[in-house]
Amino acid sequence: MSLHKIEHIGIAVKDLEASNALFTKLFGKPQYKIEEVASESVMTAFFESGPNKIELLQATHPDSPIAKFIEKKGEGIHHIAFAVEDIEAELKRLSNEGFELIHKVPKKGADQKLVAFLHPKSTNGVLIELCQDI
Ligand code: ZN
Repeated sequence: MSLHKIEHIGIAVKDLEASNALFTKLFGKPQYKIEEVASESVMTAFFESGPNKIELLQATHPDSPIAKFIEKKGEGIHHIAFAVEDIEAELKRLSNEGFELIHKVPKKGADQKLVAFLHPKSTNGVLIELCQDI
């Protein structure tokens, strides 16, 4: 059992509309999806660039984890998401390896995924997302 490829990289932004325009220019094509994840108080946009995926995240509420991240660190890379085949088994494996889980039980994330995060204090400051296709 292991993590697979990087599924996407998440970038925290202050103004999704402005960032969508910027990344549309960067990639030469617009986002393929805009989706709200109400449970995390975020609005997301997804871009494809070749085989790679970028997720932009904007807070929809001052208590959103994205609002807190931007307050502390400013805009920028927020998390790296890895694809897994069996998210519950991976969470169990990583917990046994001593990683701190933010979500012990996976939840529904954006873009048809079950997701769970590892706490950055157990991963050298990098927020890691696991995601499994639904
Ligand atoms: Zn993500």
